[in-house]
Amino acid sequence: MPTSEQLYEWDQRHYWHAFTQMATYQPLVIEKASGVWLYDTDGNRYLDGVSSLWCNVHGHRHPRIDAAIRAQLDRVAHCTSLGLTNPMGIELAKRLAELAPGDLQHVFFSCDGSSAVEVALKMAFQYWRQCEQPQPRKTTYIALGDAYHGDTLGSTSVGGIPLFHAMFGPLLFDVLRVAVPDAHRLPEDVTAETACCHYLGELEQLLAARHEEIAAVVIEPLVQGAAGMIMHPEGYLRGVRQLTRQYGVLLIVDEIVTAFGRTGRMFACEQEQTVPDLMCLGKGITGGYLPLAATLATEEVYQAFLGPAFPAPGENQKTFFHGHTYGGNPLAAAAALASLDVLEEERVLEQLPTKSAQLAEILSRCQALPKVESTRQLGLLAALELNAEQGSDRWETSRLAQKVCHEALGRNLWLRPLGGTLILVPPLVITHDELELLGSALTESIAAC
Ligand code: PMP
Repeated sequence: MPTSEQLYEWDQRHYWHAFTQMATYQPLVIEKASGVWLYDTDGNRYLDGVSSLWCNVHGHRHPRIDAAIRAQLDRVAHCTSLGLTNPMGIELAKRLAELAPGDLQHVFFSCDGSSAVEVALKMAFQYWRQCEQPQPRKTTYIALGDAYHGDTLGSTSVGGIPLFHAMFGPLLFDVLRVAVPDAHRLPEDVTAETACCHYLGELEQLLAARHEEIAAVVIEPLVQGAAGMIMHPEGYLRGVRQLTRQYGVLLIVDEIVTAFGRTGRMFACEQEQTVPDLMCLGKGITGGYLPLAATLATEEVYQAFLGPAFPAPGENQKTFFHGHTYGGNPLAAAAALASLDVLEEERVLEQLPTKSAQLAEILSRCQALPKVESTRQLGLLAALELNAEQGSDRWETSRLAQKVCHEALGRNLWLRPLGGTLILVPPLVITHDELELLGSALTESIAAC
């Protein structure tokens, strides 16, 4: 067994980490975990305050999910979904179709959120070429300012965060963009009452002018995660659905962060009675255990892809020529099914309102600290906007956020900020006592900076 020092050294030498400036990176080596706690190689424990990047739902090493994966290992670890199928994948597709709003009846599996979005973009494009009244001019997308949908080139193209995406500009396809519908930082002359109307008005103008070229609108529902948990005005998502229907444009909803209880309901779409044409799921789908993602499509979209196996010359086969080697992997599907069982049997969603109220109380305590400019929250997902010295630049607040997270680590709390924004996304299973620990570690850490 390598020592902590060896692991540290090998990590620095060979392991190139995601979204990390490797020149200054200091490894923290996590050896094991249990519930909401992560343990490093020296035996220190840290509360997993961001659910291992917003995906853990029931805590680490949940016995039910562990057992489901072990049982599946005794059957088969992997078989392809190209021309074959497996019981776990079948059951999961059925279960997701039953849970999803409206008639999102058809489930296409992939391995990560970026791919689920890539699939949705390509499905929307192909749909308009093959639907009953084809409209092949519909080849572009509307995306939101500060959007984040993943890191493959298609999902990056619809992304709109300059820090992450500007570098790759020359590689990306053009999209039409509307302003980020930020409920908390409104343009001049716009009030909380008029915000929804204002942002929908901008979208409607674009749709009215260009709908003949637009395949789909892509949106993170209610909250834009990687942008720093930017929250939309109430009614915006519902309005986007109405407008996309009115102008004959598909709606792709990226529920990769928001699904499986994170905002208080199984899917964020449900909060605004919205049924998209395509819905992307990832992250928490396996409870945060194994890589799996899914793109759910309505009957209408799916029907456009049915065609002859051996088309006549010039006839379109209509097949969706896209797939991932491990899409629908049985081990991941077994974890996902067990996670859905736990969500139901342990009545996870029913316990969220009191946890969410406790988180609100923690945020109001933080709000009283001078270094906290504002806070916002939706279910068990929250953001704290920090404020460095008067007149400081944006790197200054990022540095402050890093400092707070460093302090938090010393108080057994693991957080990962987004720029100058502190992000709280605890596992849904977190207890009231653990939330209290999180709250005191957080307030003390901010106060110490
Ligand atoms: N969509 C959203 C809204 C996300 O926040 C993310 C990742 N954080 C993705 C898509 C991409 O998911 P993945 O990292 O699994 O590719």
